[in-house]
Amino acid sequence: MAVPAWTEQAIPGKDVGLLAARPIRRGERIMARTAAIMIDGAAVDGLPVAAFAGLLHDAAKSLPEPHRAQFFNLSTSYGVDDYDSGENDAYKIFATNAFRTGIADGLPDLHSVFRDVSRINHGCQPNCAYFFDPVTLAHNIFAVVDIMQGEELTVGYIDPIQTHAERKAKVHRHWGFNCTCARCAQPPRLVAESDDRVRSILSLLGTLDDYTTAAGSNGTGPAAAELLVLLFELEGLQGRIHEAEYRLALEWNGVGDGLRATQAARRCLDRGLLVRGAEQPFISNMRILVADPTSHWSWKFRLGKKENDKTDEKKGK
Ligand SMILES: [Zn+2]
Repeated sequence: MAVPAWTEQAIPGKDVGLLAARPIRRGERIMARTAAIMIDGAAVDGLPVAAFAGLLHDAAKSLPEPHRAQFFNLSTSYGVDDYDSGENDAYKIFATNAFRTGIADGLPDLHSVFRDVSRINHGCQPNCAYFFDPVTLAHNIFAVVDIMQGEELTVGYIDPIQTHAERKAKVHRHWGFNCTCARCAQPPRLVAESDDRVRSILSLLGTLDDYTTAAGSNGTGPAAAELLVLLFELEGLQGRIHEAEYRLALEWNGVGDGLRATQAARRCLDRGLLVRGAEQPFISNMRILVADPTSHWSWKFRLGKKENDKTDEKKGK
């Protein structure tokens, strides 16, 4: 990259963060980093904390420069206080900054700390998304919206599909700060509106993920999925919009509209590849639908037996 996309700067109330050094277009890869430290999840979960912290400290101390300095320069959080680590900053840094990075199904998760990546602060409406590529072992950060020069880069540390109070409590419990992102800092009536949309999203997801009901009954069908896409957009959840497009593709295919199903599946692929990478079951799932909607499991699945029976009954009468 000729011009660096970001600079590291002190941000009031947040220690440091990364700011866009120039305009960044949606879809641009902002960075890809291999881990400074990767720890087997079995060690994280299985070892007594003091033993784990000791091993981690020794490992971090033996990193070559400049990685060692970069690691020990990462932020620690006051939310991490369930273990009195004394002078063992490595443990605090790990607990604050580690990401779960899965390599493959069936293998234990690795917990990884990345320089730079760990500098990106949290936002409940993040302008960046990340995924760990198990092939290159790199953590990739992409812009999910156009970002202006000087804007802070943010990723989501928590599931953004939660109410304001739930997000606030989680962020505070795990990282020890109060979220002041644009979504959380809205006037109360707009926060209430946002919470209402979150509840609608959760309700729609529950309804649409029930594949046993006929279209239109119990709130399923393409119109419900269109509403879901709209709610994701209104909540600024651009890093997750592929999840709504996925449901929309299934609903259109479920009523036998292969063309509209393909359109939604294309959008799901476009956005999903960006933020999740190619190694995801939903990606191969959507590729099958795009290739031939009628061969996909969801073809006319909402036009179930019950619906046909009802139609027959009506015809009979
Ligand atoms: Zn927030």
